[in-house]
Amino acid sequence: MKVLVINAGSSSLKYQLIETDSELVITKGIVEKIGGEAEFSFTNKNGEKVKSKISAKNHTEALKVVIDSLLDKTNNFISSLKEIDAIGHRVVHGGEEFFKSVLIDDKVIKSIEKYSELAPLHNPPNLQGILACKEILPSTKQVAVFDTAFHQTMPESSYMYALPYELYQKYGIRRYGFHGTSHRYVTMKAAEFLGIKIEDFNAISCHLGNGSSIAAIKGGKSVDTSMGFTPLEGVVMGTRSGSIDPAIIFFLMEKENLSPKEINDLLNKKSGLLGLSGISNDLRDIFAKKDEDKRAKIAIEVLVKSIRRYIGAYMVELGRVDAIIFTAGIGENEWHIRENCVMGLEEYGIILDKEKNQNTRAKLSDLSMKGSKTKILLVPTNEELMIALETKWIVG
Ligand code: AMP
Repeated sequence: MKVLVINAGSSSLKYQLIETDSELVITKGIVEKIGGEAEFSFTNKNGEKVKSKISAKNHTEALKVVIDSLLDKTNNFISSLKEIDAIGHRVVHGGEEFFKSVLIDDKVIKSIEKYSELAPLHNPPNLQGILACKEILPSTKQVAVFDTAFHQTMPESSYMYALPYELYQKYGIRRYGFHGTSHRYVTMKAAEFLGIKIEDFNAISCHLGNGSSIAAIKGGKSVDTSMGFTPLEGVVMGTRSGSIDPAIIFFLMEKENLSPKEINDLLNKKSGLLGLSGISNDLRDIFAKKDEDKRAKIAIEVLVKSIRRYIGAYMVELGRVDAIIFTAGIGENEWHIRENCVMGLEEYGIILDKEKNQNTRAKLSDLSMKGSKTKILLVPTNEELMIALETKWIVG
């Protein structure tokens, strides 16, 4: 089956055309700067990147360019639109309503619109992607795959905040969790790799990228996660603070005379690794300076400690942990971070093969020593493939 995976952002439209049986990416690309003069890049049939300037005032125009490129005879990705069996959309927020992926109809569209209140930066563009597909490919089945859905199995004790209960009833203030598609994918892959049935599999899944979240997986299901009502909570991220004392917000608003929007920007865009180091949100830039720059060193240490806090908490929550999984940009590539996150846990049956860890990147591997009760795994994530597979399972 050929599935077109769409990830629509506010000014971008990312896509992959995936053959789900072979799990092969036929082509992928992105339209950026949607709104006027836009940029389009995609991989041609030789795997080379082709870039061009295009005009795309909105997501529908951007999608038209993508479709033309799919149909273009020189690449021969598809010869007719009928070859696209289904479209899978990344949708960030599905509220409490969506605990799995769904076929998109008018009711689902209304719900996605409703949850824009909870994800104002993400759901509206996700919806624009859906509407563009409806317009251009009206008879193709479309599926919504929600970032929040995987975490809908969390018990109340994990998702409720100790705020007045009425606020949960009135506004839906609770932990939702994000990166669900990634956590689900790496959990599935890890269980398969270890030969453990998914319903028996307990793990701590560490998705560490520019945005990061950690999830506690019990019997293959999410029972707790570090991101909360929004993606701001949890571990230190590229530009997000992660969890802080909420009183800091009121203190700063008063002292710096900040509006709610300004404090929101400060915590989401100017904090985390960038704010601490003053160098960059990219860990590679910070590593490059860690020996001479005190703030770079502190940023790395605070990052590691924030991850270890969740690993410790989830070890207690799960009791038995079959695997600690590392994934995403940092988790897949930075051996130093992985080593520091699991260092000194031998007493708990978590023993890293340091040499193997140092020499491995971006490849599904067991990084633990033979006797390690809890395996330490590197599992490359693939959210697009997971969306394509979910889409295939839904449309049959
Ligand atoms: P992501 O959001 O998953 O793309 O992850 C981005 C983060 O991964 C950045 O902080 C990068 O510094 C970090 N990273 C480290 N090494 C690499 C690498 N070789 N390729 C991509 N990202 C990397």
